Amino acid sequence: MRHHEAGRTIRLPGLLLCIVLAPLLFILGHAAAQIAPADSNAVAFSYGFLELDDPRVVADANGVAMLTFACFGEDDNLLWTRGFASIDAWCTYARNDPNLSAQKTEQTGWALCLGDEEIFWPLQALLYICPSVRDTVAAIESRPLVYDRFARAYKSPHIEFTDGENLCQQPSATVLWNPTITRAYGAPVAWDTFPPLVGLAHELVHARQRVVEDKQIYGPVLQIDAMKDENLARYAFYRRVPGNESLRPRPGNKGYYRNGEFVAYFEDVEWSEWSPSFDPVLDIFEDEP
Ligand SMILES: [Zn+2]
Repeated sequence: MRHHEAGRTIRLPGLLLCIVLAPLLFILGHAAAQIAPADSNAVAFSYGFLELDDPRVVADANGVAMLTFACFGEDDNLLWTRGFASIDAWCTYARNDPNLSAQKTEQTGWALCLGDEEIFWPLQALLYICPSVRDTVAAIESRPLVYDRFARAYKSPHIEFTDGENLCQQPSATVLWNPTITRAYGAPVAWDTFPPLVGLAHELVHARQRVVEDKQIYGPVLQIDAMKDENLARYAFYRRVPGNESLRPRPGNKGYYRNGEFVAYFEDVEWSEWSPSFDPVLDIFEDEP
């Protein structure tokens, strides 16, 4: 810029204002929209993972669809996409992205993770992959404390890591999640293998059953809704997360009785035979007479 040229110095301020202020106002407008958790209508951005057959999905160097995180503006118009090699890679990114992490303490799932980011970010990935889990988590967080009548103490429903089985301690709505578990029974069927976050989605349903439906004691009948919602998560992974081509719906718990004899495992069901209203079958199931 030649500031010594009188003719230009006069025009510069106006030009500068346009150049500098326009993007600044744009950014501020969006930032302000994001920093308004009290008014959900003011949130201009939403995020989600695209389905792998979406033409807007990011492809890797070999042309293969990647796990694709997308940001949408008001009117659900696509603002940007970003491809990831894995859910872990997304977690590292999200944790360090100020837009996603600035209000983390106010986001759905923070209370349930007791502020442990090693659990919080994988949970966030699950919420973006399968949005219906967000409602489950929000329902659990609607009550900060439940009374554990066996421990005779108030407990905060929460998720913690375990080296053992995935389970929900029903009286206190404590979810124990093992992020390395990808099989339930070692059964020779495709449905017995699943992503670890699907196991978490299942246990979260039991925590919701405790908090919302007051199911303080575990019973097999609780499995129906848990497996039903688990299948929503399975379908979301099948549609959105690479590497889950062989993932199948869960047709039932473990096995069932036929003519009084225990049949070990359910046969695989294809996604074309499944819908969200599909009711998985419990272990104890006798043939109709
Ligand atoms: Zn269960």
